[in-house]
Amino acid sequence: MLQKKVEHRNNKVIIKQEEDIVINRKSQNLVVVSDNDFQSTPTVDAHRYDINNALQTTLEFKKLLAIFSSKINGLIPHNAYAYSNALFDLEINQGIVSKYSCSYAFKAENQDLGEFKLMRNSKFTDSELELLENLLCSLLYPLKNATLYHKALKMAETDQLTQTLNRVSFNDTVKREINLAKLNGSSLSIIFLDIDHFKVINDQHGHDCGDTTLVAVSRLIKENLRKSDTIFRFGGEEFVILVNKMDLASAELLARRIRAAIEHNILVYDMKPIKVTASLGVSTLRSDDNFDTFIKRADHAMYKAKRHGRNQVVLAQ
Ligand code: GH3
Ligand code: MG
Ligand code: MG
Repeated sequence: MLQKKVEHRNNKVIIKQEEDIVINRKSQNLVVVSDNDFQSTPTVDAHRYDINNALQTTLEFKKLLAIFSSKINGLIPHNAYAYSNALFDLEINQGIVSKYSCSYAFKAENQDLGEFKLMRNSKFTDSELELLENLLCSLLYPLKNATLYHKALKMAETDQLTQTLNRVSFNDTVKREINLAKLNGSSLSIIFLDIDHFKVINDQHGHDCGDTTLVAVSRLIKENLRKSDTIFRFGGEEFVILVNKMDLASAELLARRIRAAIEHNILVYDMKPIKVTASLGVSTLRSDDNFDTFIKRADHAMYKAKRHGRNQVVLAQ
């Protein structure tokens, strides 16, 4: 049987699922109530049943919240809602921000399932809040399932060694960014980076040292990127960086910064210093570019950097 508990602490309510469903409400006093304290009536049960059914139709956070909001609007009228989920960098805001709000945090087996806020221009009554907390329980399992689903998707797209994106989403992401850049008339640049003589590192110090080098290089790249930039592990020791709203000159500066960071980084493996450098090619999107021409130019520029002696940045012609 599902159990619910409410704890009052600070000004926030935590809706939590452990083996049983547990709701922790944060306000001034700590109060723990068992499921008996939720006065469920046949009408509330019917609403829960209706909401549960509707929520089973999707695994998308945005749709789950939209369904929930529309289903409860007749019972607890509201102007707006917000949902955030740090795990997926997700911020959903719907409606017009209003003066009064109530906030809830969802948890399942100590895993955060996001925070939810309901807003309107008049205060929520106690009986509305009690009803809302009861109905919010319907969101727990769907949010947990959506989290599992999106985690699996994320894992399929993530290179486990370097925690960068792998090739799975490369084509779609680059094509989407090309379309967006063309639509908005904004600039888009791409950097191809290949570690120099990586085979020698493997041969001289072992595969494990090679792996450590890959992780170190990916970290150095990430440290130089903005939140909106995307890094892919394109192949064995090759990374691709997609930088939006950056023209060729700015992308060149970024590439030079990354190159210098890799050269000057001191990597010590097994008490021995490992010398690492990389060759980089940069191209920026042109109006007549398609996916192939855009990425090939950067790839060719990177190979030119190799031919010209490695450890350098070459701009695509
Ligand atoms: P260049 O400067 O011309 O790029 O030379 P390179 O040695 O870096 O390039 P090459 O393509 O000859 O060798 C790449 C090596 O990367 C060969 C492969 O065994 C190794 N490699 C690929 N993936 C991994 C990995 O995940 N871990 C380790 N340790 N090595 C890898
Ligand atoms: Mg290489
Ligand atoms: Mg290579």
